[in-house]
Amino acid sequence: MKNIVVQKFGGTSVRNLECMRQVLNNVRRPLANGDKVIVVLSAMAGETNRLIALSKQWSPTPDAAEMDSLVSTGEQISVALFAMMAKDEGIKCRSVLGFQIPIVSDSSYGKARIESIDSEKLVGMLEEYDVLVVAGFQGIDSLGRITTLGRGGSDTSAVAVAAALKAEMCEIYTDVPGVFTTDPNICAEARKLDRISYDEMLEMASMGAKVLQIRSVEFAKKYNVAVHVRSTFSDEPGTIVTQEDKVMEAVQVSGVAYDKDQAQVTLVGVIDEPGVCASIFTPIAEQKILVDMIVQNPSKEGRTDITFTVTRADLDATLKLMEGLKAEIGYKALLSDKNVSKVSVIGVGMRNHSGVAAQAFRAMRDENINILMISTSEIKLSCLIEDKYTELAVRTLHQVFVG
Ligand code: ADP
Ligand code: ASP
Ligand code: MG
Repeated sequence: MKNIVVQKFGGTSVRNLECMRQVLNNVRRPLANGDKVIVVLSAMAGETNRLIALSKQWSPTPDAAEMDSLVSTGEQISVALFAMMAKDEGIKCRSVLGFQIPIVSDSSYGKARIESIDSEKLVGMLEEYDVLVVAGFQGIDSLGRITTLGRGGSDTSAVAVAAALKAEMCEIYTDVPGVFTTDPNICAEARKLDRISYDEMLEMASMGAKVLQIRSVEFAKKYNVAVHVRSTFSDEPGTIVTQEDKVMEAVQVSGVAYDKDQAQVTLVGVIDEPGVCASIFTPIAEQKILVDMIVQNPSKEGRTDITFTVTRADLDATLKLMEGLKAEIGYKALLSDKNVSKVSVIGVGMRNHSGVAAQAFRAMRDENINILMISTSEIKLSCLIEDKYTELAVRTLHQVFVG
């Protein structure tokens, strides 16, 4: 069997016929080498959002499984259109939907996890075709229902297919030339990284850098697939996401990320006794709501304040749960704020350097930005701030740590 190359193209890369022709140029490169190509495509830019908005007209609380049937159609459109065009260009190809492979997932509609991929089926199809155009984002569960892998999930489809085929590399083509020290669309000083470790990329993605979906990096790390993030619209090499090496450790901070999809919840005057946190966070977890930062103040007169963050989409459901718990945990007030965001500095080098936090806090003070919450890990420092200061904070932290 010939070598198999896996390439993924995001929404902006397939937004119209002209861009799809650029995609085809990138596909032709490995084809000219005699390789077979699996092309994983996203929905055309804006299409997934359009479908989500459409669903809201029909139902304020759309059924999760029907929702996945709906939003998965975006990828069906792009693979069919692309395969049509490529065939006209004389390429032996066909489109393949998630369920046709199948890419089997669990049944967490809207955020499904891939469980297995029939790689033999793919390899078999490649005997007949030179290019398989695979719909990203889509899976099928054990009940035979269509699932989707969460926003940005086509990255994960691509890396998972590469892992299943034991490919050493997965190419992720997008609208920027690689992974930068911060979002190049909000900071002109952002620098492209030649290489970044899986762990740093995981932190960057978890902290909001949407250039790669978090799960795609988890897959890449687990199966040791190198990921090459690069531009659809230029030939220059991008960024290789791979195992950590000595050169990476020498850098204290490799990047700055931000996440505007944050909301803060505070329970004021909670009775401070064993089991209170369990009572608060168990029902939240049962609803599959992800809690990010958590702060509990020292108690005064047997009462304490507990503040935590969730995504904005989960705020209403979280507040409803907390209202239901009022009698049980006896808080005095329930406060919330949607106008917050999180900025983070990330770097494996932080393990061996002290003073990063103090330096970050001074930088924020100099710009008069108030810090609402702080959280740290070995290789990351995050601050929750007022939403309107996000860009300023990112540029300031980038200036201080990356230069
Ligand atoms: P695609 O549609 O190709 O999947 P995305 O919009 O999901 O593309 O991801 C690419 C975007 O990620 C860029 O346009 C950029 O604004 C954003 N981004 C955020 N942080 C970074 C970063 N550190 N490096 C590069 N891009 C970043
Ligand atoms: N179309 C999906 C989204 O917009 C998946 C993807 O583009 O990766 O989130
Ligand atoms: Mg994306």
